Amino acid sequence: MTARTLLLLPGDGIGPEAMAEVRKIIAYMNAELGAGFETDEGLVGGSAYDAHGAAISEGDMEKALAADAVLFGAVGGPKWDAVPYEVRPEAGLLRLRKDLKLFANLRPAICYPALANASSLKPELVEGLDILIVRELTGGVYFGEPKEIIDLGNGQKRGIDTQVYDTYEIERIAGVAFELARTRGNRVCSMEKRNVMKSGVLWNQVVTETHKRAYSDVQLEHMLADAGGMQLVRAPKQFDVIVTDNLFGDMLSDVAAMLTGSLGMLPSASLGAPDAKGQRKALYEPVHGSAPDIAGKGIANPIAMIASFAMCLRYSFNMVAEADNLEKAIAEVLDSGVRTGDIMSEGSRQVGTTEMGDAILTAFKALSA
Ligand code: NAD
Repeated sequence: MTARTLLLLPGDGIGPEAMAEVRKIIAYMNAELGAGFETDEGLVGGSAYDAHGAAISEGDMEKALAADAVLFGAVGGPKWDAVPYEVRPEAGLLRLRKDLKLFANLRPAICYPALANASSLKPELVEGLDILIVRELTGGVYFGEPKEIIDLGNGQKRGIDTQVYDTYEIERIAGVAFELARTRGNRVCSMEKRNVMKSGVLWNQVVTETHKRAYSDVQLEHMLADAGGMQLVRAPKQFDVIVTDNLFGDMLSDVAAMLTGSLGMLPSASLGAPDAKGQRKALYEPVHGSAPDIAGKGIANPIAMIASFAMCLRYSFNMVAEADNLEKAIAEVLDSGVRTGDIMSEGSRQVGTTEMGDAILTAFKALSA
């Protein structure tokens, strides 16, 4: 069997604390399940700046480009607030996304039954929620040119951002959404604003054509993005996979995420185009940041990081049974009433990062036996 190569970039703050819990799972999978992971480690963010004067070194970028998948913790913190803009901690993540050409961002919104009461919606609306938002990550209004503020010379200024999408960009993100839908509930809802935006008209056409050409077995629905936002908070369980552009995806994925509770629970994946062997470049990371307020205290919730590793098993290595078991292990531990401080509720037992990681590993071992 060829080795599965992983680059671990723990980063700053709680990043290394959360990554330590994933390392234990990898060690178990290698020792007992013959997973054959070969891991390497690197620095990113403030820790890379301290060591190399850059937010990620060229050597670590090379490792990232060569690895099957990158696991990323979190970057940033007050220590690096004053460093020059080009080498600020976030620049490391942006460089990785750019050089690995990660155009598809996957943000699942899963509501574990044990945490349904923590949602801002009624528990029956979110209990068992399992949706996946696929956001286009490298195009649209965040990158379109012109992008500027011009002086109109009459005491007024004009701010300009350009929403622009080419056919190929829409085709490839739609393709990712349809392929992922096939592995889940087989339904895709595409969201844009075709009623007021030309890019929305093209988005709608290209998604429809892509569906007809290659994915007609998947159920496709179109929805205006504003209506989609309403539906997400009215009846979120109606969705399986949502595909949308960079701007709407940024907002809708945050809305969907918050249906499910704490930042410490939210994983994500970013994928690139498949290479000649069909393997996509990929980076997996928790949605949360480096949480300087709790860093070093051993109380961070490692679930977002562990669930990001479960996504890695599923999407980079097609280890579906293992990914299912790891997600089930998280649900079982939550069901048993074990909680980190951020998701604590009355009657539950509060634990730290290590104990939460150990509890999940124990449940995972039992499910894998
Ligand atoms: P944050 O996500 O780090 O923290 C927000 C709040 O949520 C904090 O109170 C924190 O304690 C809590 N929290 C976050 N993750 C948690 C976890 N796993 N367990 C328990 N509690 C958790 O966001 P912030 O405070 O706005 O930013 C802190 C730093 O992180 C900044 O330097 C910011 O630039 C950076 N940041 C990095 C990333 C990234 O690396 N992808 C993302 C967001 C923010």
